[in-house]
Amino acid sequence: MTGNGFDPVEYVDGSYAKGLLLICDHAANTLPQAYGSLGLPQSEFSRHIAYDIGARAVTLGLAEKLGVPAVLSTFSRLLIDPNRGEDDPTLVMRLSDGTVIPGNHPITDAEIEHRLARFHRPYHQAIDAAIEKFLDAGITPAVFSVHSFTGNWRGRPRPWHATLLWDYDPRFTKPLLEEFSRVEGMVFADNEPYDGALRNDTMFRHCSMRGLAHTLIELRQDLIGDEAGVKHWVETLAPMLERVNALAEVHEVRHFESRTGPLKHLLKD
Ligand SMILES: [Zn+2]
Repeated sequence: MTGNGFDPVEYVDGSYAKGLLLICDHAANTLPQAYGSLGLPQSEFSRHIAYDIGARAVTLGLAEKLGVPAVLSTFSRLLIDPNRGEDDPTLVMRLSDGTVIPGNHPITDAEIEHRLARFHRPYHQAIDAAIEKFLDAGITPAVFSVHSFTGNWRGRPRPWHATLLWDYDPRFTKPLLEEFSRVEGMVFADNEPYDGALRNDTMFRHCSMRGLAHTLIELRQDLIGDEAGVKHWVETLAPMLERVNALAEVHEVRHFESRTGPLKHLLKD
């Protein structure tokens, strides 16, 4: 399959002087035309298996409100998951939430390589390029990644409004959790509903490896499924991010251990 003419990256320009980069791995439920709907009913593409509902709108809202740059993907994670390492067995999902994905099963190694080259790598190159732009300007950026999760997983409701996923660098996560604790009625947690330590995922590749402060937010998708919800969360998060981003220590290169295993031999200088 191809995908010619399809741009896998949505880039939003902003002030690099602010030292904050926004990322949205699962922003889109779209596919290049050549892939049709991967053999799935179109209705599957409005579900969380195809993308993170509301995450793009929150990212764009924050980029506008804060005046900072953002890098977003434009392809459904059902095509290839940008938040997985190239060696991760769930890079191209054959099954998702009980649904077989005919366009991914069976799949050849050549087709996986094609999707890496055409979609996955250009997205990560765009993140790298944005980070280099900060560094070239003498600014060590902090990185904030926006995701959303389904409020109900296999019949079990998930109570949190927002969670933060992280591995071992506490610099952005801890103060943001402090901010959450000051919001009346906010239900939050860290490293729920998943563990933020995932080898070679986006935060690992770009932040842990470079020693950049970062965190990943998971917002419950029903809370950001419409314009009012998005506006509420953009307005809630923007001042918090500004305060945390004002901390000097989130703009220093510092290397931490990773719970996924040794890092040192992989570090970029
Ligand atoms: Zn996600």
